Order: sequence, then C-alpha cells, then structure tokens
Amino acid sequence: MNNTMLNDPNTIVCDHPLCSENLTVIRDKNTSAEVFRNAVRRLTYLLLYTATSDLETEEVTTVTPIAECKTQVLKRDKKIILAPILRAGLIFSDIASDILPNASIRHIGMYRDENTLKPVWYYDKTPIMFDEPQNTIIFILDPMVATGNSALDCINLFVNKKIPIENIRFISLLAAPEGLEKIRKYYPDIKITTAHIDETLSKTGYIIPGLGDAGDRIFNTLGD
Ligand code: URA
Repeated sequence: MNNTMLNDPNTIVCDHPLCSENLTVIRDKNTSAEVFRNAVRRLTYLLLYTATSDLETEEVTTVTPIAECKTQVLKRDKKIILAPILRAGLIFSDIASDILPNASIRHIGMYRDENTLKPVWYYDKTPIMFDEPQNTIIFILDPMVATGNSALDCINLFVNKKIPIENIRFISLLAAPEGLEKIRKYYPDIKITTAHIDETLSKTGYIIPGLGDAGDRIFNTLGD
C-alpha cells in the first residue's frame, strides 16, 4: 500500500475489531459457504454503519409516551439507492436494505472477462435519468475492488446520469491498491469504505492475499 492511500481521507478502512474477526473467517479457505455468508452479513452492518455516518439529518417533533421532544431523522428529501453489482454484491443487499429501509435497490449486472479483465455488462436496472440527481445518494455494493475496472464503469454510469460524485459511495470487503489507484485517478473525491486494503493483485486479477472468488464462495460454486 502506498503512502498516498494511507493519507487519503476518502478511503475509509473500517478497522473495527469485529471487522478483523470476520475478515479472518472469510479469508480462510476452509470456511464453508454458509459460515462465509454469515460473516459477510456481519461485516455489512459494520461497513454500512461506517459509510452512512455522515448522512445528513433534519429535526422533527416526536411525541413519546411521556412528552414531546425534538429528534433527528435522515433528511426526507434525500433518495437513497443501493446498487449491488451482480452477482457477489447481492450478499450486501439484504442487510443494507434493513439498515436503510427506504432505499431503492437498483441491480447492476457485470462479469469479468477472464482474458481482458474488463467488465462485460449484462444488466442495468437504473433509470434513464434520475428525477433529482442532487438529492440522490448512491451506495455501490461490490465485495472486491480488484483491477478497479468494474468499479470505474459503475461510477461512470451514475456520473453520466448526473449524480454528483460526492453523492456516490462505494462499499467493498477488500480492495487492492491497484484498483484504488485506478479509481482515484478519475475520481479523487469518491468515498470508498472497505474492511481492508490488501497487498496487491495477481496476474489473473485476484486480490492477494484476498479471499478467492467472492461470488463462488458466497454461492458455493467453487470448482465450476
Ligand atoms: N473478484 C473476486 O471475487 N476476487 C478477487 O480476488 C478479485 C476479483
């Protein structure tokens, strides 16, 4: 990891002890798919709490059984979108939508061409244009930032639909320095929350030490 990354305020590494504990579980090659999925769900809470900690709130009046008081709620004019990148990003969706119950879920389908390592699009559930891009906050959900190619394509999609970059947030379990550097080249300001920045990428585009293929580990399709 280079020093620029360590000093980058927009890359938020969630170094909570429970993140470390659950990361160890999912890195272990002997962890079953069921145990892997449960550990990722626990990590989703930690990552989402971190990534939402600066969401804006507004004051409302609430009547408790005892008295009236002023309380805070998420700003009502903001529309939150969860954008899981299929297929591995699906693992984040349930917990993320529990935490953000009013969010819409807009799936993005991409797979990685094994030869070029470039993303191939096959699904896009985003609208042609967003009604109020300034008031729309996007959480892109993808467990692995490896080459950064699919992350960049997905960010470009929302930027081309006029979502301000400060409204786009990227959530991942692990990130490779190479992928982060690629994203930063084009989008120095996008907020990326991850549980860990790993060492590097293999020639075939796997994060080292990483956890292997996230989709295969989640959906128990290793060896296909
Ligand atoms: N995608 C994965 O699932 N794992 C990696 O290591 C890199 C990309």
